[in-house]
This record gives sequence, structure tokens and C-alpha cells, in this order.
Amino acid sequence: MEIASVIVDVPVRQTDKEFDYTIPEKWAGMLTPGMRVLVPFGPRTIQGFVTSVREGEETGRLKPIYSIQDLEPALTPELLHLADWLTTNTLCLKIAAFQAMLPAALKAKYKKYLVLSGPLHLVDPEIQPYFASQNKVEFEAAMEHPSARIFQKELKAGHIEAKYEVKNKLNKKTERTVELAVTTEELREAKEKISKSARKQRVLIDFFLEYPDPIAMKRLLQLVNCGDSAVKGLEEKGLVRIKQTEVYRDPFQDRVFEHKSHLPLTEEQSAAFTPIKASIDEEKNDVFLLEGVTGSGKTEVYLQSIDVALKQGKEAIMLVPEISLTPQMVQRFKERFGDRVAVFHSGLSIGEKYDEWRKIFRKEVQVVVGARSAIFSPFQNLGIIIIDEEHEASYKQEETPRYHTRDVAIERGLYHRCPVVLGSATPTLESAARAQKGVYKYLQLAGRVNQRPMPSVEIVDMREELRAGNRSVFSKVLMEKMIDRLEKKQQIILMLNKRGHSSFVMCRSCGEVSQCPNCEISLTYHKYSNSLKCHYCGHEEGMPSSCPACGSEAIRYFGTGTQKVEEELAKLLPQARVIRMDVDTTSRKGSHEKLLKAFGTGQADILLGTQMIAKGLDFANVTLVGVLSADTMLYLPDFRSSEKTFQLLTQVSGRAGRHELPGEVVVQSYTPEHYSIVLAAKQNYEDFYQQEMMVRKTNMYPPFFYITLVTVSDEDLMKVVSVTEKITSYLRKGLSPQAVILGPSASPISRINNRYRYQCLIKYKREPNLNHILHNIIEHYQQDSAHKGLKIVVDQNPQIMM
Ligand code: ADP
Ligand code: ZN
Ligand code: ZN
Repeated sequence: MEIASVIVDVPVRQTDKEFDYTIPEKWAGMLTPGMRVLVPFGPRTIQGFVTSVREGEETGRLKPIYSIQDLEPALTPELLHLADWLTTNTLCLKIAAFQAMLPAALKAKYKKYLVLSGPLHLVDPEIQPYFASQNKVEFEAAMEHPSARIFQKELKAGHIEAKYEVKNKLNKKTERTVELAVTTEELREAKEKISKSARKQRVLIDFFLEYPDPIAMKRLLQLVNCGDSAVKGLEEKGLVRIKQTEVYRDPFQDRVFEHKSHLPLTEEQSAAFTPIKASIDEEKNDVFLLEGVTGSGKTEVYLQSIDVALKQGKEAIMLVPEISLTPQMVQRFKERFGDRVAVFHSGLSIGEKYDEWRKIFRKEVQVVVGARSAIFSPFQNLGIIIIDEEHEASYKQEETPRYHTRDVAIERGLYHRCPVVLGSATPTLESAARAQKGVYKYLQLAGRVNQRPMPSVEIVDMREELRAGNRSVFSKVLMEKMIDRLEKKQQIILMLNKRGHSSFVMCRSCGEVSQCPNCEISLTYHKYSNSLKCHYCGHEEGMPSSCPACGSEAIRYFGTGTQKVEEELAKLLPQARVIRMDVDTTSRKGSHEKLLKAFGTGQADILLGTQMIAKGLDFANVTLVGVLSADTMLYLPDFRSSEKTFQLLTQVSGRAGRHELPGEVVVQSYTPEHYSIVLAAKQNYEDFYQQEMMVRKTNMYPPFFYITLVTVSDEDLMKVVSVTEKITSYLRKGLSPQAVILGPSASPISRINNRYRYQCLIKYKREPNLNHILHNIIEHYQQDSAHKGLKIVVDQNPQIMM
């Protein structure tokens, strides 16, 4: 009798282990690790993941599995192994690790069907009756069939396949596609025999001789400019086949991508490309750090490295921050690799993401371009993993499992024996330090392709402006340059560095600032709804007409939100057409792309926005970039604030003058002498690195020390304080004297959603026991019902210190 070990989907510590179930006879031999099953668990039926299957004695003590949910594993052996790694390294639950790797469609309960994927007569006669009247069978009904394994056999043979129905979204669309029924040789011969009068047919043949891949009928007719009768003519001659195939909901499907081939590499690019290629060829799990300013040709190096892997029949993962998953970026990959690319971005619906994921699983694509979670793409023969803009904070997942994408990538590289390439103009100090020590291999692109000059950057001291009587958000210099560009019909990008700088409401009589009743944080004013919102708990209230504290009517909003800058632009430069891009204008699906497209096609003179405009954009006509408030990030309680300021300013400066027209950047600051601002203006990464490394060393921060942040929260303040105290002293006892343990102290945001927050910060160089100790702490408080409601979050290598 077969026995399966199962990890059940109950997200608590007590059940974070394998439970055994017997496999009923009808499913014997069908289950393998990575498949999902439904099992009885106490009074409930819940989902679980099979982790192993073994032969065992029927003892009567084990319960049988209720039903099976997959005929093929949803997780590959490698991903199962990676889940172990995630569990150990981020202290998460096994089930959380599994869930993090799967597309959402597989997490929720959607109806699943088995459908015919070819003609009925190919299917085993025993199950043919199921498909006789319709081409799909409910999955669960099929599994109840006495010989359920016949369905599995047919699935493996490709005669049927499993499909999900995500409510009204996941219904598969089909379309006609045309593919060659003969070789290109035969096609060329056939062309000789076709009469001169069948002109369209001959054009079609020429097309296929050049692009022999299958193509959608609609697109083909567009490209060749003919009617479908010509295609049918070729079909009658047996040269092509017209098929109904499933269309994936590809958000880029309306676009025709012109195929582009590789650019001849510059000398510098070759020097970077050669060792990467060697590493792929020799199957080495090297980690490369590729440092190169924007426009230095990193993407071209990525594209050609990926091509090396593909040529060897391997696969590639290309990670970019969500924010730079721009149409321009995706376009370059589509132009180079065509239909072999799947794209994952947050604009996709659940069904669309599932479609992309299936393409990987069925080996229909070899390249994935996506944000963080794409690192879990279920490829089985990876040849390279690339992380662009490796310094971006979004590569760290801020919920459990709290993994850093870079670490996962390196772990997968180890398994597949393939290189990982980290690219950036401003690498994290951690990566740069590792490259310096030789742990990573350092590659550099020092100049821009074609020697295009870096833009000139001017720093304006806003304190001087104020002294000179200028109360506008625009300095005199920036204003003059904007007027100049408007006259020349060139475009301008204005960036408001908004992090930690929201438009709050204050009473001018008594100084009262509107606070969230649930969180220790001021409320943000939203003009369109004339309301105040809390960005942490979602609390919303109407804008008061008088001060709740003193009753004065002199209550108004402060700060320079994008809306306010937009108003000021309308006053000062009424002739300018402005597009505003921030969370308010881009929350709807596709609006991000629409706004960028409008700007790109010259429908506006000024693009005004928050950090989200800083990266990934490439507009030929932009010759001026203004940074309105360079230093708002510098004083956040975060040891990376200088690094983040440097990165952002360097990035945004790189936006200007990427094409024929030279670019200028104006950076407005209240602390213009700060080294992160001065060195960003010079695009001097090297000096910034040296200076910041000294600061980190003095203060014992990464990359000299590792840090782990433990945050405790509860509605009861006394309890939070006492538990954090206990945790801190337990850590002091367990760790070596070299470890620095700071705390307990109130978190920078000391209350969120009525829960008080305290923390303890651990800095250390080598503490082999740390994970074990932290695990004990979590275990202890999770299992004690006296601590119900208490939450402990352990964040290793935290990116957000709040
Ligand atoms: P990065 O990714 O470092 O910002 P890109 O790869 O986007 O740089 O290159 C910047 C610009 O230079 C792009 O327009 C790209 O098409 C062009 N480019 C890159 N490599 C070459 C090359 N070898 N020859 C000609 N043009 C190139
Ligand atoms: Zn007041
Ligand atoms: Zn709140």
C-alpha cells in the first residue's frame, strides 16, 4: 500500500510538518512529490502538497487521501528542494514557501477540467465515453473513475490536458493559426509550380520562407495584406495547415514585433560578455556583478548572454523591478526572442499569469521576463539568471517568506550550475563589497554606448532660493530652463521625491497635524476625494472644515505632493501640457502604459511624477530633468538612506540626453553639500562607495555586519514591551559576545492599525546558532495560547527599517 507524506495548507507552526495518508488503490502509482491533494484534517478537508511517496504497511491508523488535484506535479523536484532552503533561511512555514512559488490560480479553489487536446479516437477507449458528448470532463469526476490512472496516462501522452476555469476570466480564447505543413525546401520547390496569377499565394510563400514559424491568421493577413482565401488556397495544396489554437491572454498580443538581431558588441561589451558566455559554456555557477551607467549597453549584454543559453537548449530568467517592466523594455525582448518569451507583470490578471506559467511548464517558452516572483519560474534546465537594477529594494519580499531574490537566484544557479548576473549603475554596497573581495566576478561598462555624453547636472541650493525670496517649488534656474525647453518644443521630466514626504494637513493657528486614529503617523491629503487617508491601515475621513483641536478655520494641507506641483505649473506655465504620474493616476490597469505612451508620442510637454518615473524610461525628446526635492529621503530612520538617495538621483539623471539631444539635470536640495547628492551629480559611484563604506564600518552596518530585525506587535502595549525585553535577553544569552543586540525599542512607526510595535535589532558577523535561536523564539510564542494575537516578525537582512 502506498503512503504519501503531505504538507497541509494550515498556516500555523503547529502543523508545519509532514502528515501521512494512505493512497487509495485506484490512485496507486499516480502520485509523485509536488502534486496537490485534498486530505481530511480534523473535521475539515484541506489542500496539501505531497512531499514523498513510499510503500508501507496498512495499519488502519492512517486516513486515506480524499482526492487528487494534479496529474502532473505543480512543483518540480528542484522547487521542492528550494522550499526547504527558503524555510530554513527565512524561517517561514513550508506551506508559505510552496504557495510563494505558485501562480495565484493554483492557490485558490478554481474549477478544473480535463479537456481533449487532439482527436477523440486517439484517447484510450476506456475513457472515450467521457468525452463523447462534450470535450471536457470535470477533474474530480474523472478522478473518481475506477481507472483514474488512464486519465493520467493520456495526459502524459498529450491527448488530454488539465485546465482551470478562473471565474469568467480564465475561459480560454482560441484563434486560427497558420503553420507550415512542409519543409521550407519543399515550399521553395512548390513556389516554382504555382501559377503567376496566384500572386497572393506567392507572397505568402515568400513570407513563410523568411518566417517559417506558426503565426496567427489575423496577424498574417495584416502583415501580408491579403484575404484568408489565399491562405486556404495554400492549405488545399497541402503546404500549410490552419488550426484552432488556444490564445494566451498576452497583453502585448495586439502588437507586431519586428524581429531584430544582435547588435555588434562594443569592445567593452565584449569584455563583459565573454566571461559570462564562458560560464554558461562551462556550466559554472559564477555570480557576476555588471556595473554600468544607464545607456552603457547592459541590456544588450543580457540579450546576447541569454541567446547563448538558448542556443544550448537552455532557459533564462530575466528579472527587472516591476517599475521598469515598461513596454520599451518588454519590446526589446520580444523583438529579439519573439514567442519564446513569457512576460510576468503586475498588470496581468490571475488567469493571464497562469497562462504564462503554463507556457513555461509545457516548455513553450524559454525566457521569462518578470519582477520578483518570476525567480520561481518552473524551468528545468536554466542556463542563466539575470537581475537587472539589482539594487532595487523591491527584490526583497516584505511579507513571508521574506526572501531576497538575489539569494534565491544564487541558490538556483547552484542547482542548475549556471551563472547569475547582477546588473546596476549603482550596485548595493553588499554586492560591490562582494565583488571587491572576489566572491562575485566584477564586470564593468564604464562609458555610454557611442560615447554619448552623460548629462550635465546642476545642484541648486533651495535655502538660497528662499533667502532670495523665491517661495515657489521651482528654483529660478529650473524655471528658466523649463521656459527655454517649452519654446524649443523639447520635453521635460519633473520628479518629486515623495517618499517620507506626503501632503499632510496642519492647523496654522495651533499647529495640530491630523493623525490617523489607529497608527502613529500623519494622514495624507487627497485632493480629488477631499479626504484624508492613512497609507498604513487604510483609514479614511473627510477633510475637516475647522481644526478639531482649537476650532480655527485656518486648517490646510502642506507639503509638495504631485497634485500641488501640478497646480503650481498650471499657474506659472499655463501653456505647458502636463501629464501627472503617481499612485493616484496609475492605479487602474494599463494606465501606467497609457500615460507613458501619451508622453512618448508628444502629447505633453512635461511628465511630472514620483519615483516611478525615474527608471526604465527612454524618451528621445527629453532634454531636461528636474528633481524637485532631492533630500526628502535622507532623513528617514534607515541606514540605507544615503545609498537610496544616491541611487535614485543617479538613475533619474541618466534619463536625460540618451539620444542625439544633450541632456541637462537640475537637482534642487536643502542639503546640497551632502556627499550622496554631490557624488550622484557627478555620477561617481566609486567615490560614493568608498565614503559610504566608511560610514557603514563605523556604525557597524552591512556589508560589514549582517542584520536581523525582530519586530513584536500586539494591541496591548505592556505585553509588547515585556515580550520584546524577554526576547532581547534570550538573544543576549544565546549569541556570542561579538553580536550587537540593540533594543528593546519602539519601532520608528510605533503603532499601526492599533497594534503597538517594538523591536530588537541584531548586528553580527558570524552566528551559526542564530536561526536556531530565532526559531525557538517563534515556536515558543506561537504555541503558548497566553500570547494569542501577539505577532513576531523576523526579518533577515531587512530592506525597510520601519
Ligand atoms: P543599459 O541597459 O545599460 O541602459 P542599453 O542596452 O539599453 O543600456 O543600451 C543603450 C542604448 O544603446 C540602446 O538604445 C541600445 O540599443 C544601444 N546599444 C547598446 N549596445 C549597442 C551596440 N553594441 N551597438 C549599437 N548600439 C547599442
Ligand atoms: Zn488648531
Ligand atoms: Zn492608520
